[in-house]
Amino acid sequence: MSEQEVGVQILSRHPVDLENKVAIVTGGGTGIGRATAIALAFAGARVAICGRRADRLDEVVSSVRAMGAAGIGLVADVSVDKDVERVVRSVIDRFGRVDILVNNAGISASGFIHEITSETWDRIMAINLRGPFLMTRAVLPGMRERRCGHIINISSESGLEYYQGDAAYGTSKHALNAFSEYIQRENQDFNIRVNTICPGMVVTEMSENEVGLQHEKCLLPEDIADLVIFLLTRRPNIKIGTPILIQTMLNPWVST
Ligand code: NAD
Repeated sequence: MSEQEVGVQILSRHPVDLENKVAIVTGGGTGIGRATAIALAFAGARVAICGRRADRLDEVVSSVRAMGAAGIGLVADVSVDKDVERVVRSVIDRFGRVDILVNNAGISASGFIHEITSETWDRIMAINLRGPFLMTRAVLPGMRERRCGHIINISSESGLEYYQGDAAYGTSKHALNAFSEYIQRENQDFNIRVNTICPGMVVTEMSENEVGLQHEKCLLPEDIADLVIFLLTRRPNIKIGTPILIQTMLNPWVST
């Protein structure tokens, strides 16, 4: 048997099918969220995306539907309780349940601690940390009742490192890593899996104007989407420890 045949046999022995699974991707209108939504649709999932800008969401929903998958877009701010409740209620009304949550929406801001305004600090924490908390809290009761579900949090390399001038963003991502572990421990007996992905530099709206960043040496949004699909399609009894670091081999920064 060739190596390829062995690989095919292994895959066909453990197929975790995403066909008709219901997924929510926050911040799904651009970048990593967009690529993830499209990858999920390609894998047969029904996809709901939420984000701030209707035009961005519409474009992704059109791509999802063009693949023959069901998709909806919902304008919402993940840091606002009522918006989150509306998103989850709309998805359950439309698709009946939530199987997969990808907490991807996020913003960044740099600055040394002595320069960070309270408003910036609060906004970062609200979107990068409160948002995943609100979304997770809203989907967990259904997942626990059905004893299945998968939550993936998009953190950052900054959630593992301590870069100077990155305290607000970095702290929000370190905290998100910790939050992921709490979700996992409280819900593991309910067959709910949790993964945290910590990407290095990815070319998206968030990073494209960074001075000294060589785009050709960065990750692509699709690289992260690919990892999301890998994690979602493992056999149910496999726990992959969090957080998972995905970086570039080459330093994407111009050395000074
Ligand atoms: P992006 O700016 O393209 O995507 C972020 C998305 O979140 C946008 O669509 C934005 O509209 C949405 N969003 C922002 N605030 C929101 C809110 N309050 N409510 C709902 N949606 C909101 O950038 P991206 O790189 O695709 O970022 C996705 C995630 O990846 C973020 O959590 C980010 O921290 C993380 N990340 C990015 C990089 C990178 O280099 N680009 C590296 C590591 C981690």
